[in-house]
Amino acid sequence: MLKENVEKQFAPLEKKVWLSSPTMHGEEIKYMKEAYETNWMSTVGANINEVERLTCEKVGCKYSIALASGTAALHMAVKLAGVKTGDKVFCSDMTFAATVNPIMYEGGVPIFIDAEYDTWNMDPVALKKAFGLYPEVKVVVVAHLYGSPGKIDEIKAVCDKYGAVIIEDAAESLGASYKGVQTGTFGNYNVISFNGNKIITGSSGGMLLTDDQEAANKVRKWSTQSRETAPWYQHEELGYNYRMSNVIAGVVRGQFPYLEEHISQKKAIYKRYKEGFKNLSVTMNPFDETNCEPNYWLSCLLINPEAMCKQVRNECETLYISEQGKTCPTEILEALAAMNAEGRPIWKPMHMQPMYRMNAFVTRGSSGRTKTNAYIAGCEKCDVAMDIFERGLCLPSDNKMTVQEQDKIIEIIRRCFG
Ligand SMILES: *Cc1c(COP(=O)(O)O)cnc(C)c1O
Repeated sequence: MLKENVEKQFAPLEKKVWLSSPTMHGEEIKYMKEAYETNWMSTVGANINEVERLTCEKVGCKYSIALASGTAALHMAVKLAGVKTGDKVFCSDMTFAATVNPIMYEGGVPIFIDAEYDTWNMDPVALKKAFGLYPEVKVVVVAHLYGSPGKIDEIKAVCDKYGAVIIEDAAESLGASYKGVQTGTFGNYNVISFNGNKIITGSSGGMLLTDDQEAANKVRKWSTQSRETAPWYQHEELGYNYRMSNVIAGVVRGQFPYLEEHISQKKAIYKRYKEGFKNLSVTMNPFDETNCEPNYWLSCLLINPEAMCKQVRNECETLYISEQGKTCPTEILEALAAMNAEGRPIWKPMHMQPMYRMNAFVTRGSSGRTKTNAYIAGCEKCDVAMDIFERGLCLPSDNKMTVQEQDKIIEIIRRCFG
């Protein structure tokens, strides 16, 4: 089959296949209706209590506080960690901006730690190097990208050595485990999300998880406007309106029994892709197969360097030159879009974002960036996150995708390498 016009080689799928869309099961509406009928149309109620209980039971943490979003939970975590104006904070570089922005809400200064190839998460070697450069840092924010746990033991060992607090961003990894223990329990303050595209959803919502009772009480207070015990509105501290709605909690409550089902569907999707791409010059988003069980939230592809055609990206646009036997994320994403399937580039690393370009970025290699942040060339693999961004993409990973639809998607991707 000719490579040319690869995007026109299939009739579009009848139904759009999304990257990852909400999957409802029916019980959600029951609990939402219950909130309505009992008139708990508020940020208190049975659904909230139950969702907090279910989360602690599933994840294995002592306390959970249901909040309006994962971002709000990360903001609370950054406050709990005591980040103040000017404080440097180490954080994952290849992640969604919500991992990092809450550091800025508190006036902190994010310092980005490069990713590693084994799990695509924070590189403990680069983290160790960063503590050598900035020994004063006391807080580290670690994300588990696409549902695959990072190198938790190694990261914890480095943080323990330097007495740093860990904030674990498990927004994408609910249900994933590391050495048999769920993500969302390894940090001092941990975060999950129920955003619409996550493994289970409330349409929105998030949670802060911790084993620290005092911290849990603080978040309950801060997230409800920091009201003191008094007959009137009495305030000693800055407050936030960050609690989850009891209606949203009803959706989450209805979703919870389906978490494992969603994970097994996502796992089957990952495996089918892996099998389908077996003899192509690619790898899938990797994980530590001995110690980890991911939640397989998104399946991703990384094109081997020798199979990459020429692709250039400026801030907001991209171009490529189609080449026989080679392809690139842009070509594949165009082919997918033409067949009515949604893929997405890898999350663009934070150190490449205009708003964070002047922040420090620490890689395990000796080179890095100049003061004006120009990339120092000639050092292969010294910017792992950028490399994965350039060669990688997220594949349609919706758990409602049929085997037939996925087979077509696999076939069109294979033809991109033709
Ligand atoms: C989705 C996500 C968040 C934010 O969660 P929201 O509930 O959307 O605010 C934070 N970090 C990561 C890595 C995410 O993917």
